Amino acid sequence: MRIDLSGRVALVTGSTRGIGHSIATALAAAGASVAIAGRDRARADEVAAALGGTAKGFACDVTDVAAVTALIEAVESAFGSLDILVNNAGVTRDNILPRMKDAEWDTVIDANLRSAFATTRAASRGMMKRRWGRVINISSIVGLVGNKGQSNYAASKAGLIGFTKSVAKELASRNVLANVVAPGFIETEMTAQMTPEARTVLQRQIPLERLGTPADVASLVTFLASEAASYITGQVFVVDGGMAM
Ligand code: NDP
Repeated sequence: MRIDLSGRVALVTGSTRGIGHSIATALAAAGASVAIAGRDRARADEVAAALGGTAKGFACDVTDVAAVTALIEAVESAFGSLDILVNNAGVTRDNILPRMKDAEWDTVIDANLRSAFATTRAASRGMMKRRWGRVINISSIVGLVGNKGQSNYAASKAGLIGFTKSVAKELASRNVLANVVAPGFIETEMTAQMTPEARTVLQRQIPLERLGTPADVASLVTFLASEAASYITGQVFVVDGGMAM
């Protein structure tokens, strides 16, 4: 199936590297105009220039609600629309619960969950008016099954699922669809810190016997952004090599 997103405008938060970068690349390859966003403006510009075409870089810290509102306005003004919003920016601050600091909890909830509320609220207005929109939130299997040392991260990723289902119900009548993609363990900077021993133990738990690639996630996001997915909303799609069946 060839996916054609020409004429669509996409914003991918946290697209300066990792999974977000791969999603932005895949959406651009399908013909979308893509807004690249991260905290580092120079890096965002570099990524946009490498993508070529109509891609454009934006700087935004997604924990800053005012900055997020300004980002959505800037994207709509630069491209004339915003049709596909991918909430991908995310962080971890792992710690076991008895030692977890308030700041570790707050940082993760703000970057992973409150950010999606702020972007989606701002982007939904235009999408509803235009009667077309796709919101794709990048959660994690940790949001479904939990993980030791990640109570903050798991709460943020589980929160995204409830948020997405509510948005899907609220906006369906305006043809704005919202779905969740929940990756398992994917090869990025976030997972690069693992020791070889931890990696071997992990791979034994994955039926497909490998970590995923950012492209494995990006291909599903591209499908969900397309017309081919126009009867799918409020769903959670796991991309984890079969780990959490
Ligand atoms: P990376 O750490 O490789 O990249 C994170 C991206 O988010 C970067 O572009 C970073 O840009 C951006 N970012 C981080 N904090 C902020 C912020 N406050 N404001 C704006 N941008 C920010 O992460 P991954 O690619 O591994 O992960 C991407 C998403 O996928 C995350 O939501 C993560 O939770 C999720 N995920 C990842 C898995 C994995 O195995 N890697 C598994 C399951 C889910 P910059 O620092 O320049 O701002």
